[in-house]
Amino acid sequence: MNLIVLTAPSGAGKTTIARRLMAEVEGLRFSVSATTRDPRPAERHGVDYFFLSPDAFRERLDAGDFLEHEEVYPGRFYGTLRQEVERIARMDDVRAVVLDIDVKGALNVKRLYGDAARTLFIAPPSLTALADRLHARGTETEKQVTTRLERAKMEMATAPEFDAVIVNDDLDAAVAETVAHVREFLESRGMRDEA
Ligand code: 5GP
Repeated sequence: MNLIVLTAPSGAGKTTIARRLMAEVEGLRFSVSATTRDPRPAERHGVDYFFLSPDAFRERLDAGDFLEHEEVYPGRFYGTLRQEVERIARMDDVRAVVLDIDVKGALNVKRLYGDAARTLFIAPPSLTALADRLHARGTETEKQVTTRLERAKMEMATAPEFDAVIVNDDLDAAVAETVAHVREFLESRGMRDEA
């Protein structure tokens, strides 16, 4: 099993980088996480997340269904489903499973999987730049933006524990750097480059 773990403070541009990474490198597939938060407009169950009630999440937790899970924001749980990761890893055309998870989840996955996991931290150029992006995106309330910025400070402090830190100052450069890391990881895992 090969795992690529992408982590970034909310608003650092991870989603855009991830989308371009998937388009450029063959054989990568996202694992869909479970969460207890409400869907945003246009988010779909089973595509963006498996949206679970707190009770349903707890039941799956008790059943040992999560590879890792975190209370990312107060009262908001997120978790990687073992079944989902294993299902994807078994697919013929898949070379690595991609996880988009928070810093604690990422570092837990690294502890569990070692060399089979490559953890990439996407950093914004600065916290000010991050605040600007979050305001411009407009998908969160002011209070949520403040919470996310507080959390971003903690997240940035963990960056040195990741296998690589990619600063998203120039988007094209950040994508190129991410692609290079992923190709090198796949090669180190004996995966032929089909692209
Ligand atoms: P959002 O609510 O913006 O979709 O995600 C909030 C945060 O939760 C992001 O940092 C995202 O990476 C993280 N997250 C999403 N899924 C998981 C998961 O399965 N496990 C963990 N630990 N974090 C997750």
